[in-house]
Amino acid sequence: MIDLRSDTVTRPSAAMRDAMHAAPVGDDVWGDDPSVARFEAAVAERAGKAAALLFPSGTQSNLAALLAHCQRGDEYLAGQQAHTYKYEGGGAAVLGGIQPQPLEHAEDGSLPLERIRAAIKPDDFHFARTRLLALENTIGGRVLDPDYVAAATALAREHGLATHLDGARLFNAAVASDTSLDELCAPFDSVSLCFSKGLGAPVGSALAGSRELIDSARRWRKVLGGGMRQSGIIAAACHHALDHHVADLAGDHRRAARLAEGIRALPDLEVAYQATNMVFLRIPEPHVAPLRAWLAARGILVELLYATRLVVHRDLDDDAIERVLEALGEYFTRH
Ligand SMILES: *Cc1c(COP(=O)(O)O)cnc(C)c1O
Repeated sequence: MIDLRSDTVTRPSAAMRDAMHAAPVGDDVWGDDPSVARFEAAVAERAGKAAALLFPSGTQSNLAALLAHCQRGDEYLAGQQAHTYKYEGGGAAVLGGIQPQPLEHAEDGSLPLERIRAAIKPDDFHFARTRLLALENTIGGRVLDPDYVAAATALAREHGLATHLDGARLFNAAVASDTSLDELCAPFDSVSLCFSKGLGAPVGSALAGSRELIDSARRWRKVLGGGMRQSGIIAAACHHALDHHVADLAGDHRRAARLAEGIRALPDLEVAYQATNMVFLRIPEPHVAPLRAWLAARGILVELLYATRLVVHRDLDDDAIERVLEALGEYFTRH
């Protein structure tokens, strides 16, 4: 099977399973798991923050961050397409009484400074208290311009807002822009990182930030049901990914570029853009269902309804990309 639906479909490698098997564990709710402690220290160091905390998912990591930054009646600014706004079931509003203020993105995925400025509410009891700016990097596979990030976070600070980064794929951004992780994290008070996507761990995310913020997030994690016991087994997988899989993301990016190049040569299928490990397509609507079925019959899974994107990851090699291009080519010579 060649699965291009998401980079979450990656399976733990034999070496990662060995690391999980060998991990010393304890009850992490009691603070007794040495593998979790080691992993959290490593993440904090890589992110350049004082502390970090393991979470079962990126959704919970983002939510705990929002709950730690904001009180009931506060609001956070985020993009219309941001995961923290659109893809997390409205968790901050549902569980925290925190109002989202979604903003339209610019073409490159950023939130224009003038829209951020206009959305920050004055101190007036008619309004929710604007408390936090939440950005996402990568956003739709695209790496945020570092000058933009500097300006947006400076603007937030100027208005007394805290800043959170949903860095589910921040390692992709770091590798693609040849920038260290801590440099990308530096402008933000908190950063959420996923290990279960392109990095290949079966589960696991981490939140990094100040000691105080992480202490608060730890309380919220327990409230949200995310206090885990012998979670060193998960931390060991994530730690293995941190130590051994980050550089491999460059291969994913190269293969995504090759996939985009091959698709550009096909009639009827347009590449909207390719960035890091994602290729976004424009497909004439009548082709969507038949193309999906055609590919599925050839062992190629794509998700073209929810998002017209193909996602490259570490379980796909050069051969797999060529097979996808062949299958796409055949489809369009026959339809
Ligand atoms: C995947 C993802 C998350 C977290 O998702 P989980 O499935 O809950 O781990 C958060 N933000 C972005 C941008 C993501 O792609």
